[in-house]
Amino acid sequence: MLPDLIVVTDLDATLLDHFDYSYSAAEPALQKLKVLGIPLVLNSSKTIAEMQEIRHLLKLDDPFIVENGAGLLVPEGASLKEYNLGMNRAELLSVIHDLRQTHGFKFTGFADMQPALLAELTGLSEAGAKLAMQRNFTEALSWEDSDAQLQLFREKLQQAGLSLVRGGRFFHVSSAADKGKAVSFLRQYYQREGRTPRFIALGDSENDLPMLAVAEYAVLVKSPVRDFPDFEHPALRRTSEYGPAGWNQAVTSLLNELKENSE
Ligand SMILES: [Mg+2]
Repeated sequence: MLPDLIVVTDLDATLLDHFDYSYSAAEPALQKLKVLGIPLVLNSSKTIAEMQEIRHLLKLDDPFIVENGAGLLVPEGASLKEYNLGMNRAELLSVIHDLRQTHGFKFTGFADMQPALLAELTGLSEAGAKLAMQRNFTEALSWEDSDAQLQLFREKLQQAGLSLVRGGRFFHVSSAADKGKAVSFLRQYYQREGRTPRFIALGDSENDLPMLAVAEYAVLVKSPVRDFPDFEHPALRRTSEYGPAGWNQAVTSLLNELKENSE
């Protein structure tokens, strides 16, 4: 018998293709998870509204984590229970806008953008961009200043109790929450239900590393736009294929190995 597995995954450039957002190459492994009744927890920088669309497409009814670990949503009956793991967004925006004023940092945040601009930057539709802009907990921004200024911005944010992480396309400012803390929170949630889950975590970027670090099995999915981030983990694999194809490869082989080991 397999252990009590839960798959937790990043979306952009991991389960979804970096260029066209398709997950079709991951279909065989997705199907396998369904058949085995293994929960698939989406964990990305996306908003609740964006996640709901993807969950609908994937026909998922499992908990999900939004905005880089700042919020955990757990289906309970017909409704969603929301756990806020970070600072609220209005407070956070006032901190970063004050810093921009004081130090002259050059960046464009989602709060500064019209949906048309975000659509142009990401290849999302304008409707999709609108969903991406409905943020509850964090701010995403496109950095337009030097590396030295970026370092200073990072330090100033830290002093304010905020962190800056690089995602697939944007930098994300959030309070102490991260994708890993959210998974640890979810682990405790399952433990309270008497389960002892073992997590398989998949991601491609720096902001996925805290989530990979707290999982029993870690997968770095190859990105078409940058090298693997530096990372060590006792049970780490790196895919040879990109995005959803790599995702499919890693989940399929892990499930097969775990099944063999348990026989
Ligand atoms: Mg990603």
